[in-house]
Amino acid sequence: MSNYEAVIGLEVHVELKTHTKLFCGCSTEFGKEPNTQVCPVCLGLPGSTGVLNKKVVELAVKAGLVLNCKIGTYTWFDRKNYYYPDLPKGFQISQVFRPIAYKGYLDIDINGQNKRINITRAHIEEDPGKLIHSGGSIMTSHYSYVDYNRSGMPLIEIVSEPEIHSGEEAGAYLEKLKANLEYAGVSDVKMEQGSLRCDANVSVRPVGTTALGTKTEIKNMNSFRAVQRAIEYEVERQIEVLEDGDRVIQETRGWDENRGITLSMRNKENPDYRCFIEHELPPIELTPEWIADVKGTIPELPDARRKRLVEEHGLPDYDAGVITSSLALAEFFDAALKKYPDAKTISNWIMGELLRLLNARNMELSEAKITPDGLAALLELIEKGSISNKMGKEVFEVMFEEGKDPGQIVKEKGLSQISDEGQLSRIIDEVIAKNPKSVADFQSGKKQAVGFLVGQVMKATKGQANPGVVNAMLREKLAQ
Ligand code: ADP
Ligand code: MG
Ligand code: ZN
Repeated sequence: MSNYEAVIGLEVHVELKTHTKLFCGCSTEFGKEPNTQVCPVCLGLPGSTGVLNKKVVELAVKAGLVLNCKIGTYTWFDRKNYYYPDLPKGFQISQVFRPIAYKGYLDIDINGQNKRINITRAHIEEDPGKLIHSGGSIMTSHYSYVDYNRSGMPLIEIVSEPEIHSGEEAGAYLEKLKANLEYAGVSDVKMEQGSLRCDANVSVRPVGTTALGTKTEIKNMNSFRAVQRAIEYEVERQIEVLEDGDRVIQETRGWDENRGITLSMRNKENPDYRCFIEHELPPIELTPEWIADVKGTIPELPDARRKRLVEEHGLPDYDAGVITSSLALAEFFDAALKKYPDAKTISNWIMGELLRLLNARNMELSEAKITPDGLAALLELIEKGSISNKMGKEVFEVMFEEGKDPGQIVKEKGLSQISDEGQLSRIIDEVIAKNPKSVADFQSGKKQAVGFLVGQVMKATKGQANPGVVNAMLREKLAQ
């Protein structure tokens, strides 16, 4: 279709799940009053030196391992020098020369085909503070606020090789990265809260060539969907520039979610950060035994769990992939399965109703009120015939919103299904009496006429009759 191939490399920043910051004891809790979680170290006051938080190293190594990286046994920190109000020291402590993790990969699934995306490196660094522009964006503001609560929070930056070739592949890579880090307990990986941020480096080149084209770096995407859309837009834009005989300018561009376009933010022709070793902190030396201990604490990862759902519970691979894409969903599934041992039915309700409602309301599973036990109880009511599948969906929605017990909802809403044969028998007799033509049709061999009669019984009971029972009773009566 196009004569150009897109080339994308992602830089993902992930906040590590520690109680305290990278080099000081300040809390990392999200959402507190601005500038209440600060101290001389993370404010960069002269004369203050921090001490490395050991937990950060542990989580970074864990992250490296679940990204299939090699782990550096002798690494250190460097200073990346630049001036900006969110960086009070005038330099960012990062790992420029020796990242703690390197040469990794993630396997993604594109239309049922496996594809490996190599990871160049994953290194530890400190987060700068957060600028809040009074007018929403820097261009429309007279002044800005700085919140240093974020200053000094521990991050890992995960850099991929330029081996991603579409927005879709970028989305799949991010989903896999997020799931692996979430399962490992390394980070909350919440894009909305900023604990996962992604910049996309995008270039295009003529199909069949291997040299890299000039790239732009896209920022400001606040969902995986936005990353995908931004890449797709930017690829098209660059192709148009080249087709017009112009050249792509190396620059940083911002994604405008409302307009669905990228806009030039600043030119960036190889900034010089004047990096040098941070001599105030000692190097990090790790023994193979310590790394092995960390490895031992890694739980079952998404791919293994997906395989287990297929092999042990007979789920289709597609279902297993959806359910294991988030730890919360996978745990929900396992818990429900303990109470109601029919994997496929549970999967249908998770993939159907649960995900439908979560997406429609843009919610996380943790915010929904329905519990795995609740779902299991609901499925039992349906199985017993107390309510129909259709009523079940109605009850499910109430459980989702209010978390009540399904039996109670059925009672309150007067939903319960009529399976009582005595009660149904009277209604069926009336329907038979009122519809002699359909009865005659049925008796003369048009067996589908029973469908109409079942419909009439359903109508008479306002949908509360158990259609299976009605069908069987009708056939029995008509056969006499
Ligand atoms: P920078 O110094 O600008 O940060 P790096 O070489 O460190 O650039 O690469 C940063 C990210 O950009 C990596 O993910 C890399 O794969 C990607 N990248 C580098 N060159 C290109 C290119 N020409 N097109 C697309 N992505 C690229
Ligand atoms: Mg970069
Ligand atoms: Zn501090």
